[in-house]
Amino acid sequence: MKILVLNSGSSSLKYKLFDGETPLYEGAVERIGEAGGARDHREALEEAEAALVESGTLASFAELDAVGHRVVHGGERFVEPTRIDEAVVEAIRALIPLAPLHNPANLQGIETMAALAPGVPQVAVFDTAFHQTMEEAAYLYAIPYELYEEQSVRRYGFHGTSHAFVAKKAAAMLGKSLDETKLVTLHLGNGASACAVKGGKSVDTSMGFTPLAGLVMGTRSGDIDPEIAILMQKKGLDADEMLNKRSGLKGLCGDNDVRAIQKRAEAGDTAARRALAVYAHRIRHYIGAYLAQLGGADAVVFTAGVGEHSAMVRKMACEGLEGLGIVVDEAKNAANAPDISAEDSKVRVLVVPTDEELEIATQTAKVLRG
Ligand code: ADP
Repeated sequence: MKILVLNSGSSSLKYKLFDGETPLYEGAVERIGEAGGARDHREALEEAEAALVESGTLASFAELDAVGHRVVHGGERFVEPTRIDEAVVEAIRALIPLAPLHNPANLQGIETMAALAPGVPQVAVFDTAFHQTMEEAAYLYAIPYELYEEQSVRRYGFHGTSHAFVAKKAAAMLGKSLDETKLVTLHLGNGASACAVKGGKSVDTSMGFTPLAGLVMGTRSGDIDPEIAILMQKKGLDADEMLNKRSGLKGLCGDNDVRAIQKRAEAGDTAARRALAVYAHRIRHYIGAYLAQLGGADAVVFTAGVGEHSAMVRKMACEGLEGLGIVVDEAKNAANAPDISAEDSKVRVLVVPTDEELEIATQTAKVLRG
């Protein structure tokens, strides 16, 4: 079964072709709509098709059994991957106010693909859907309730595809059924989020109404006192830009790439060390909070660029958690081993590579099977 996974952004299009669970080919078209790039999403998809044909992995889009689209925001309507029809397209469009940058770009991918490959089933896999199992007490903000009723202001959470994928993998590594497993999953990439997963379901997550909340990220602040945003605006600063693009690790030390920051920290750079300390402090905060929400956990799971590769961050984040049953083995951690917990660690500490494209392909196939 040939499935094409598409991640359609405003200026880039990433694609990956699978046969079942086997990856066949992947590529990206960058700078859409910019000088020297593809003119629009149609031209970008035509370039992708040409590259796939050239690679010998696909005769044409018509040969596809399905297309799986990453869609950022599914609001409260989409609680699982969904076969796309006109009503679904309209529903994704209606959610644009909640994801003004992402949903329009995702829709362009969907509508263009539908035009280029009529008759090929398309499935939307939402970043938010996995977290729709959160209870009201976890997703409501303590602000006037009308804002929830009238403007859908609540915690949604993102990175759902990744949290779902690593939770399944972690349960398999533990030799337990997902239904009986309690996990704290930590997706630490450029964006970062933590999730409390009970029996395969999200019960709490650190991102909120938008992906700005929660952990410290590359350029995003994560949790702050909201008065700070108000203060920025009063001072004539653009709070949106300050908090999304100029904060996080970058705001603290000028760099947002953890590899570079680690090098600086190792060389004794104070700002780099400070930034990593704040980053790790916030991770520890969420590990503790989610152990409490879950009533203990079988494992803490690190994933994505930083989680999979940075022994330094994992070590710092787990420091001092021995009293909660979390003990990291230094040698295993340094080797990026799949299980980095010490023998006497009550809670396992796992490093699980995420694969959001594979999860989208798997979910797409599942929707097709009905
Ligand atoms: P995205 O959210 O864009 O998918 P990734 O999951 O690829 O991002 O994560 C990117 C982050 O991972 C960057 O901060 C990068 O520095 C960090 N990273 C990648 N490899 C390493 C490594 N070997 N050691 C430390 N950090 C790493």
